[in-house]
Amino acid sequence: PTPATPDLTRVRFGPDGLVPVVTQDAATGEVLMQAYADLAALQHTLATRQGTYYSRSRGEQWVKGLTSGHVQHVESVALDCDGDSVLYRVHQHGPACHTGERSCFFTPLLAAEEETDAGQGLDGVLERVYGTIRERLDTLPEGSYVARLHAGGLDRVLKKVAEESGEVLLATKNAGTGTDDERAAARAELSTEVADLLFHTLFAMAEVGVTPGDVAAVLRGREGRTGLKGPKEVG
Ligand code: AMP
Ligand code: ZN
Ligand code: ZN
Ligand code: ZN
Repeated sequence: PTPATPDLTRVRFGPDGLVPVVTQDAATGEVLMQAYADLAALQHTLATRQGTYYSRSRGEQWVKGLTSGHVQHVESVALDCDGDSVLYRVHQHGPACHTGERSCFFTPLLAAEEETDAGQGLDGVLERVYGTIRERLDTLPEGSYVARLHAGGLDRVLKKVAEESGEVLLATKNAGTGTDDERAAARAELSTEVADLLFHTLFAMAEVGVTPGDVAAVLRGREGRTGLKGPKEVG
């Protein structure tokens, strides 16, 4: 909930008058960039919902995307526990980084351990793919499959979702019969078909503005409850 008058006296600006700002994709949680704001930049962000910073190199206020067009619509702003760091949660149009990368944090210093990767399971990658789809829908770049799907219209994508569902059914059936080799091949096929189904489902969600967070909220609401059998019972 937004306080009627946000209390900016709680922001602890550094001796240079700046506070670090972490900027996150509101839909996917991806960290996009880190920069600084002075009081005026913060006030500009709150008043206009445009991601606004203070450029230390240029020594001036900086509305992100003013020259590149890669603007940020600010969904929410939060202050950390001790007031020395600010979080912008944004809808990022195009890449956040001036190099053209979606996020500024593309240079690994320490690779994820295998366990960490496996531990992330499915939801991390779904959210990243969703973020990419959203970005493509914003910019509709030449040669993009997402841009082509978008041009074809929602009905065609929904047909694709139904089609992929059928392929998931078939691959699952095949994975339960035949020789060991045949069943292994069908399991590989099933992984591909489920990936196709998830991708096109994410696309459909992105087109109408349903986020992975919306889906996660439904799943989380059912977590730890027993005896739920299916959509009929829980819906
Ligand atoms: P923009 O605000 O996107 O129009 O970019 C204007 C200038 O701000 C760029 O030429 C860069 O010098 C700088 N800049 C843009 N995005 C970033 C970023 N994510 N991190 C640091 N500097 C940036
Ligand atoms: Zn802090
Ligand atoms: Zn960058
Ligand atoms: Zn947009």
